[in-house]
Amino acid sequence: MTGERHRAAVTGERHRAAGTGGRRRVVVTGGAGFVGSHLCDALVARGDDVVCLDDLSSGNRANVAHLLEPSVGAGGRGSFELVVADVSAGLAVDGPVDAVLHLASPASPPDYLRRPLQTLAVGSEGTRHALELAGGHGARFLLASTSEVYGDPGVHPQHEEYWGNVNPVGPRSVYDEAKRFAEALTMAHARTRGTDVAIARIFNTYGPRLRPGDGRVVSNFLAQALTGAPLTVYGDGSQTRSLCYVDDTVAGLLALLGSAERGPVNIGNPAETSVADLARRVLALTGSASAIEHRPLPEDDPTRRCPDIGRARAVLGWAPSVPLDEGLRRCAAWMAAELGVPAGGGGPDGGGRVSAGGGGGPAGGGAP
Ligand code: UDP
Repeated sequence: MTGERHRAAVTGERHRAAGTGGRRRVVVTGGAGFVGSHLCDALVARGDDVVCLDDLSSGNRANVAHLLEPSVGAGGRGSFELVVADVSAGLAVDGPVDAVLHLASPASPPDYLRRPLQTLAVGSEGTRHALELAGGHGARFLLASTSEVYGDPGVHPQHEEYWGNVNPVGPRSVYDEAKRFAEALTMAHARTRGTDVAIARIFNTYGPRLRPGDGRVVSNFLAQALTGAPLTVYGDGSQTRSLCYVDDTVAGLLALLGSAERGPVNIGNPAETSVADLARRVLALTGSASAIEHRPLPEDDPTRRCPDIGRARAVLGWAPSVPLDEGLRRCAAWMAAELGVPAGGGGPDGGGRVSAGGGGGPAGGGAP
């Protein structure tokens, strides 16, 4: 069925559109978020019926508005239903469930630092509800975990056998430890109840629909460059991240979902770049004349991060395929449209090299 409803317990409002029936039915928590909405696109495109649960706290209705069109569900595509609900409070889904993909959580550091208790709740209670839903239906469960479980890593690149270096009482612990607990709970359900589970450790992902005000590095730098504002580099910019284009991340998640692997499996792009280099790339590809301004490094900000994706290559046959500059160009084109500014950047020459057309269309490219 394609349509939208709000969980009665949450808002009292509820409506549904006509159903389609007879296909794989997939529940996606956090499905109106950045990665979640691209995942919903890919699932619907391949013919699955998607039930998206999101409380829209960091997700955005606009990310899935195109999936609520009446034409969705026709012509061999799957259907889509949006349920506005907080999965920490409970997760009631009527009808069959073949898979549960649990992505609900704030993921941007400013977002989870603003909502520490909600972040811990969705990682713990939200994960429990999602696991119980999957277990009750004999469905496969996929946890969207994170590279943050490695904390400020002492091993480089990070492989799945590494146990991490997380400050359990620091500000980031609300996210890191919630995800570590979610992994532990997932494994406990697999061991004690036989739930069919998979754990994906998602590294930094970027692409269209990353909100300009999201606070993450790619969205900040692109929005700043496109509007002529200074690029805010935290610390000296020597810390590294490895950025994966969202279509590649989604392809990795679907490969894991479709496998019998339990994981954890790193899903990320091993091309590592420093934050200072990323700022230079963004300036070059947008043609922006923005300055670079240094700001204090946030507490417990990891100094290096790069996935070892040997396991994903071996067991899933997956590897990312979108190079950083190409992905940044697509993301910049989308963000320029979102901000209503020319894609050529905010500098006086306006001579950027961002081409339009790489916007927020359905994900699913780069499949293994
Ligand atoms: N960062 C930055 N300027 C910004 C936003 C982030 O220099 O405007 C840095 C941040 O300190 C970190 C890296 O970019 O070292 C990635 O930050 P992000 O918030 O995207 O995600 P994280 O990987 O820290 O969860």
